[in-house]
Amino acid sequence: MSDVLVRASGLQVRFGPVRAVDGVDLEVRRGETLGLVGESGCGKSTLGNALLRLVEPTGGTVEFDGLDVTAAGRRELRALRRRTAMIFQDPYASLDPRRTVAESIGEPLAIHRLHRGRAARRARVGELMEVVGLNPDHGGRYPHEFSGGQRQRVGIARALAGEPDFVVCDEPIASLDVSVQAQVVNLLVRLQREFGLTYLFVSHDLAAVRQVADRVAVMYLGRVVELGAGASVSSAPAHPYTEALVSAVPVPEPARERTRQRIVLTGDVPSPADPPSGCRFRTRCPKAFEPCPDHDPVLQPTGPEQAAACHLHGVTDR
Ligand code: SF4
Repeated sequence: MSDVLVRASGLQVRFGPVRAVDGVDLEVRRGETLGLVGESGCGKSTLGNALLRLVEPTGGTVEFDGLDVTAAGRRELRALRRRTAMIFQDPYASLDPRRTVAESIGEPLAIHRLHRGRAARRARVGELMEVVGLNPDHGGRYPHEFSGGQRQRVGIARALAGEPDFVVCDEPIASLDVSVQAQVVNLLVRLQREFGLTYLFVSHDLAAVRQVADRVAVMYLGRVVELGAGASVSSAPAHPYTEALVSAVPVPEPARERTRQRIVLTGDVPSPADPPSGCRFRTRCPKAFEPCPDHDPVLQPTGPEQAAACHLHGVTDR
């Protein structure tokens, strides 16, 4: 069995002229949490969706456990749907307000024909609620009767209903109160251990990603610009964009926090419909130099578990 569960090769997603994802090579290993970080609009959510084929890739391939997802027919897609799931940023928007939470959590069971029969299904829904820390007696309530954190737990229970292997967590704590964010993160970590899940954890917040991810991929304007072990990416970033992201994260020790050098990026993020020539980051890069406008850097190793797409590590071209 390969240790890679999901593999994207040359993946592209275009919406008209907009190149939301523009040639991404990425592997998610079994049992790991891969953090995917970048500013809003960099294509990270689209990439997460494309891995599950919730949006159609316009180029490249995605493999899930050896299956070519991009070429999958209806039956294979149905199996893929069961083995994968998504946890959304806003559980309120992703749950039907007119359905009880038990109905919402039970829906994937009906779709995938699991735990057939009302009693079996009800028992399974109760079990799922308990697993995520909700009172199973509250299954008859509606989403608005729960707090934000509890609603996210409902979303997580629903995601787990089909017993997936791979879960895309798309900004799962971004819309929650700071006080409950840690609880939801801890829950996700516990569930991963308990059920052997593989996560893609998508977030604009490097500090949040760093807490949970084994490896981190940094995205900028439709491309992965750095990839590596969470600790190395945050302690020794190899790409100037990652450096800027790292410099924006507050440090818990007051002495170090006072002397923290913040790299402030100037200029707007260019349009993904018309990315700059050469390195896409060059219009905002404090370290841009001669080859940057003419050569489009590829990811290349910068350390044992780290790679960056930047000419500072040797000039390359796509
Ligand atoms: Fe900056 Fe050049 Fe590296 Fe791009 S290739 S990140 S512009 S130094």
